[in-house]
Amino acid sequence: MHEVSLVRSILNTLEEQFSPEELQQLKQIDLQIGIFANVEPLLMQNAFEAVKETDGRYRQVVLHIESLPIKIYCEDCGVSSLVENYVFVCSRCKKPSNQLIQGTELLIKRVHFDD
Ligand SMILES: [Zn+2]
Repeated sequence: MHEVSLVRSILNTLEEQFSPEELQQLKQIDLQIGIFANVEPLLMQNAFEAVKETDGRYRQVVLHIESLPIKIYCEDCGVSSLVENYVFVCSRCKKPSNQLIQGTELLIKRVHFDD
């Protein structure tokens, strides 16, 4: 399952940035996932639960996922538009655009610690 390796790589990133003592205080991880990122939030949650089962260090941690809509950029107008219903047109001039500026990311937005 591709989500399990994503969860592992997110945790690896945190393990590089924080000490084991700090990670014991970890309470919540906020992720931002673009709806074009090819990652299903529900599968991501399930993968996180599965990793928690095998890795006791994260038992107390909650995964919070925020979905990011797709945004495109129109060179003619210099404006960015939200894509609704997969219609990739500029909101101002209605020209098609395939310049994605948001919607494919998978980011750790924030981590919360117990204090
Ligand atoms: Zn335009």
